[in-house]
Amino acid sequence: MTSDTTETTGPTGTTGDQQAPSAATGPVRPVVARTRDELRTARAELDDGDVAVVMTMGALHEGHATLIRRARETHAHVVVTIFLNPLQFGPREDLSRYPRTFDADLEICTAAGVDLVFAPTPDVIYPDGDPGVRVSAGPLGDVLEGQSRPGHFDGMLTVVAKLMHLTRCTSAYFGQKDAQQLLLIRRMVRDLDFPVRVVSVPTVREADGLAMSSRNTYLTPSDREVALSLSRALQAGADAAVEGASAIRRAARAVLVREPLALVDYLVLVHPETLEDVPEWYHGEALLAVAARVGTTRLIDNVPVLVGPGGGARETFADH
Ligand code: AMP
Repeated sequence: MTSDTTETTGPTGTTGDQQAPSAATGPVRPVVARTRDELRTARAELDDGDVAVVMTMGALHEGHATLIRRARETHAHVVVTIFLNPLQFGPREDLSRYPRTFDADLEICTAAGVDLVFAPTPDVIYPDGDPGVRVSAGPLGDVLEGQSRPGHFDGMLTVVAKLMHLTRCTSAYFGQKDAQQLLLIRRMVRDLDFPVRVVSVPTVREADGLAMSSRNTYLTPSDREVALSLSRALQAGADAAVEGASAIRRAARAVLVREPLALVDYLVLVHPETLEDVPEWYHGEALLAVAARVGTTRLIDNVPVLVGPGGGARETFADH
């Protein structure tokens, strides 16, 4: 059953604003579940076999919509979760100012053909308060993003595990934009035997190259100009890929040094599975990744590159 034909009777109290599926009314609004009971009821309406999930923190944009459409192409049902997970935000991070745009998010979900939106509050996800038992990201969670954001990946994996269980998904779609997150989710699924297929989707960019992000709304017009140096640096690095690792690093660094207002946290060329710096002689798949503060906003971006002969930018690497 596709969303175009989904019965619109959702869980009690969540059906009021749903439209009847007809040519006159256009796409059907997804069922919205806010509690575990509502999710259970709505999820039971979907055939068990084939449910893809796209997990988000809301403030949806074309990047999220692309993930949803990709999931939609090959799955009978798509569930979107919208949850700002306090467990993955540090005390000095932007949880309180993170944009909340639920009505607009629902429009995007409707247009992209989502069946069910699960939008719980923290007390629904963590009824006993902060969980004592959590998923540990291990050493891969301590480097790059993990170095600036201690505990972030444990909090992220913990909620991803819970949302996989709660939605009973068979596939889960994640963006290449958050490469370390994607790697850690793949590792969790493999290491802990989750019966879920993880699918990666290439980074969606603005026309000028800026990676789409909910946090881009924090950028002033001049911040935005500065922020472009990140994607330009990655592009310059990828363009030097045939010349090897040193040339990639040099080319990317050369762009960033010309933009002192981008306060670079890291610019690295690492192995996509170990996240360790690749040696100068390296040929093969690598990740060129950058994090920088621009104004008050911390931005990340990356490009998968093939280093060496025939090298250059790639959209995303297959799971190994
Ligand atoms: P977020 O709401 O930022 O946590 O992102 C939810 C999902 O959307 C994650 O899998 C992200 O990697 C993915 N995502 C966010 N921005 C983009 C983008 N520009 N291109 C592709 N995927 C994205």
